Amino acid sequence: MTKFDDDPAKIAALRGRLLRWYAEHARDLPWRKSADPYAIWVSEIMLQQTRVAVVVDRYQKFMKRFPTLIALALAPEQSVLALWSGLGYYRRARLLHKAAQFVAENRGGNLPVRADELRLLPGIGAYTAAAVASIAHGEPLAVVDGNVERVLCRLAGWQADSRKGPTALRRKIEKLAGRLLDPARPGDFNQAMMELGATVCAPRNPQCLVCPLAADCKTRGEHKTLPRAPMMSREVAYALSVRIGTGDRRGLGGREVLLEQRPAHETVMPGMWELPALVDSHVPPKELRMTLRHAIMQVNYYVRIRTVFEDDVDALAVAGGERRWAPLHEASAMALTGLARKVLVRARLFPPPALDSLAPAGNREKV
Ligand code: SF4
Repeated sequence: MTKFDDDPAKIAALRGRLLRWYAEHARDLPWRKSADPYAIWVSEIMLQQTRVAVVVDRYQKFMKRFPTLIALALAPEQSVLALWSGLGYYRRARLLHKAAQFVAENRGGNLPVRADELRLLPGIGAYTAAAVASIAHGEPLAVVDGNVERVLCRLAGWQADSRKGPTALRRKIEKLAGRLLDPARPGDFNQAMMELGATVCAPRNPQCLVCPLAADCKTRGEHKTLPRAPMMSREVAYALSVRIGTGDRRGLGGREVLLEQRPAHETVMPGMWELPALVDSHVPPKELRMTLRHAIMQVNYYVRIRTVFEDDVDALAVAGGERRWAPLHEASAMALTGLARKVLVRARLFPPPALDSLAPAGNREKV
């Protein structure tokens, strides 16, 4: 039993404290200015496993290019992926696009209102459906993302039990989230819980002294949880091949970069454009253009970039997907992998991203 969840008066007081704190401290984020279910849906998909600071800039560009569900549905997939480039987990963008096309064709562009109907669309699971339905339409459903899960575990003093497995704990957390949810203001309550987890009850150094839930919290700080899976390491190398453009020479010095499209049957980032992979991950020092680390899911890639002349590409690169020479001004708008974009920025072939959209060192790319 927790300190409070057996007492309706205590639950009401907790809700009140949390909502007052949220009214005073909520960050000014672009998607919070809109009650449009489409805008809320896009933001919720982008925010899955991606930091808010990275999402803000991408969200604004995405909504400028696709201001309505119909605009998104009518766009080619490559344009959608290009605007998603760097956010990672590209499957999210594909499913968002597919769902928009389905809603445009079958529902006149109107998203379903209820969470159980939203869940029937591609890419919308329990979390997203509850978030959109509660925030846009006030459906009383609790949202449990990683931040909320951490807040509730600390609040109740729970930790993952390796004997019972994570599923039993997850069920307990969902039940508690449902009991605490304010049925009168479910959208605000859900956003307040997520905000608290993101800004106060952070994974490290929670700010318990300013937390509106501190009076009810069993742990008031970090407590033991199961260790994260260790990262694996791999060494890879890619060709950076640049030439003076042969066709339209406008923009960015008229240069072209050689890119290769990942085959459609790949499970990881199918259809995205990247630099041609080299057969040999060892690169002679005089050919080495740069080295960098790039994390994808649980793998740290130690990447070597080699300058390769046009005539040598076939001999050095892995034979694979379709290759094309892309003018730099065009390449920057293509659906590039996060790694390819990072290399082209570091090689000063692309302009650097806006400062507030930079991820911290070690931010992982998602497939
Ligand atoms: S008191 Fe501390 S540990 Fe408990 S919910 Fe608040 S910030 Fe998290």
